[in-house]
Amino acid sequence: MRPRASDSLEWHVDPAMTPSFWLDQLEPQPRRPALDGVREADVCIVGGGFTGLWLAYELRRSDPAREVVVLEAERVGFGASGRNGGWVQGEVSGSAKAWRRRGGPGAPLAMERAMRETLPNISEAIERERIECDWRHGGSLIVAQSQTQLARLRDELRHEREVLGEAASWQFVSEADLRQRVVVRDGLGALFTPHCARVQPARLVAGLAAAAQRAGAVIHEGTRVVGVEPGIARAVGASVRARHVILATEAYTANLPGRHRMVLPMNSSMIVTEPLPDPVWAELGWSGAETLLDGSYLYTYSQRTADGRIAIGGRGVPYRFGSRTDREGPVPAQTVAQLRDRLRSLFPQLAQAPVARAWHGVLGVSRDWCPTVALDASTGLGFAGGYAGEGVAAANLAARTMADLVLGRDTELTRLPWVDTMPRNWEPEPLRFIGAHSVFRLYGAADRREERTGHATRLASVAGLIAGR
Ligand SMILES: Cc1cc2nc3c(=O)[nH]c(=O)nc-3n(C[C@H](O)[C@H](O)[C@H](O)COP(=O)(O)OP(=O)(O)OC[C@H]3O[C@@H](n4cnc5c(N)ncnc54)[C@H](O)[C@@H]3O)c2cc1C
Repeated sequence: MRPRASDSLEWHVDPAMTPSFWLDQLEPQPRRPALDGVREADVCIVGGGFTGLWLAYELRRSDPAREVVVLEAERVGFGASGRNGGWVQGEVSGSAKAWRRRGGPGAPLAMERAMRETLPNISEAIERERIECDWRHGGSLIVAQSQTQLARLRDELRHEREVLGEAASWQFVSEADLRQRVVVRDGLGALFTPHCARVQPARLVAGLAAAAQRAGAVIHEGTRVVGVEPGIARAVGASVRARHVILATEAYTANLPGRHRMVLPMNSSMIVTEPLPDPVWAELGWSGAETLLDGSYLYTYSQRTADGRIAIGGRGVPYRFGSRTDREGPVPAQTVAQLRDRLRSLFPQLAQAPVARAWHGVLGVSRDWCPTVALDASTGLGFAGGYAGEGVAAANLAARTMADLVLGRDTELTRLPWVDTMPRNWEPEPLRFIGAHSVFRLYGAADRREERTGHATRLASVAGLIAGR
C-alpha cells in the first residue's frame, strides 16, 4: 500500500514501512542480532541514535582495547536521528541566560565555540568513513515575511552580538540578497549564518553505525533495556554488566524507571514533496542548499534535499499526556494540512505540489532547554541528551565530551558548562501537559495576532516564561 494523504483522512502509512521518508530511502539491511544472555563490557550504551553511535565510535577510536556494546530497542536510527530535518547546526539550544546559569558569564561563548568546531569534526568523520549522506555545507537562513518578523530578526542579531561579541556569526541579508539565494513569498530580509550543513540524516546514522562497528563496537538491535543500575543494563532475559552504563535515549528516557520527568518528549512532524521539476527550481533558486527557517514563533524548518524535494517540519501535536512516546501511527491530517499550508505560504508555486510522505518523531527537552552530559563517577551511570530539537550536530559534541569523561580525561570538553549540570525535573502531570500545550497555543496566538494587526505582541514572552527557556 502506498502512503496517501487527503484533507479528510489521516496520513496512512503501510505498517511495513519505516518510521520516516529518510529511512525508506536506505537499502534494506538484516537486523543486527539481539542481545542474548549475560555479557560483560567496559561500556554499555543504551540507544542507537547519533549520541550512542558517536559515543561508541569515539570510544573505540580513542581506546581500541575498551569493549563497547550498544543496545538499541528497535533499529539504529529508529528515534529522532532517523527522522529529523537534517540540519547539522553549529549551535546549541538554550538561551544565553540559561547557559550563564549553568556555567557562569563565559558559558554561552564556550558552548558556541565548541559547537562551531563540531561541524568540521563531523565532516572529517564523514569523509574518513566514506559515509554517503548528501552532506552539503550551505549555511542557514531565517527569513522574515512581515515587518514584525523583520524587526524581531534585527533584535536577535543585536542580542547575539551583545552575547558573543566578535564571535557572533549571524549576518543580515537584505530583501534583494535574499532573492538571489531563495525566492520566498513576501521575503523582506533574512539572517544568515555559515555554520550549518544539511544531510540525509538516516544515511548519516546508518553510515555511523557501520563505522562504529568497523571500529570494534558491538551493536545489538531489537534489545529494549528495561532498567539500569550501577554496573548493569537489563533487557528482558538478557543483560550487560559494565563499569559504565550510558543512556543515549534522548526523548525516550522518559520511559525508563525513575527518569520519567528528566526530559520532556516533544513531538515534531515532517512532510516531504515529490521531486520538483527543474523549471520550479529555476523559479525558487535555493541552489546554495541553505537550511531554511521561517520567522514565525511556531516556525517551520526546511531543507532542499539532494534529490530535488523540499522537506519541511514543524510542531503538529506538540506533546502527549504522560510523556508518551509510543505513537508510531499516522500523522494527523490536520498536521499534514498545516505543513502544506506553511509550504504554500513560503512558496506559492507549490500549492499543488504532491506530498510524498509524512512522519513524526520525538525529541527531548530538558527543563532549561539546554542539553546535558552527565557521568556519575561513583556509579558509572551517565546520560547525554536534551538537545531540544538541535541535536544532530550537538550529539557529536556530547559524545566526544562523554568519551573524555568515561576515559577519565581532563580536557576542554569536560570543562564545558553542560557537564554534570542537569537542571531540575519537569513538573508532574497534569501541569506538564497544561504547560506544554499552553506554550504552543500562546505562540500560535502570537503569530495570528501579529499577522492580523501587523504589530508585535507580548503573548510570545508569556509563552517563553511558561516554557522556562
Ligand atoms: C521530526 C524531527 C526533526 C528534527 N530536526 C532536527 C534538525 O533538523 N536538526 C537538529 O539538530 N535536530 C533535529 N531534531 C532533533 C534531533 O534529531 C535529535 O536531537 C537527535 O537525533 C537525538 O539523537 P539521540 O541519539 O540522542 O536520540 P535518538 O535518535 O532519539 O535515539 C535514541 C535511541 O534510543 C533507543 N531507545 C529508546 N529507549 C530504549 C531502551 N529502553 N532500550 C534501548 N534502546 C532504547 C531508541 O529506539 C532510539 O533509537 C529533530 C527531531 C525530530 C523528531
